[in-house]
Amino acid sequence: MFCPKCGSEYRAGFEECAECRIALRPQPPKPVADWATVFTSDHPTELEDAERILTQAGFRYRKKIAWIPNIETKNFQVPFEDADAATQLTRSIPSRHECRFLFLFISVALLIVVGAIIQVC
Ligand SMILES: [Zn+2]
Repeated sequence: MFCPKCGSEYRAGFEECAECRIALRPQPPKPVADWATVFTSDHPTELEDAERILTQAGFRYRKKIAWIPNIETKNFQVPFEDADAATQLTRSIPSRHECRFLFLFISVALLIVVGAIIQVC
């Protein structure tokens, strides 16, 4: 028996993948030729949302580190043929970055003010 999502093989008698919590099937999942990125984020809450949404919708997906200098940034990828449907779902994930942008904006504004004061003095 195989998990249709992660591909793990189980001995007879098992009915559910211990990892993915979904029903096993007699056939192994067919290998995915092409993966498409449907969501990218470095925000833990957004990543949790994406994981929950994709799991609930029953998509097969994998997480990839998007770029090495920032291992927090993850890409969610689904098989290419599921990309459109999965993007429809991940588009609804609310952005949690407002606070960070505000913080960045205030920091830059403060720097400009400090810079101006130094110039004048
Ligand atoms: Zn599994």
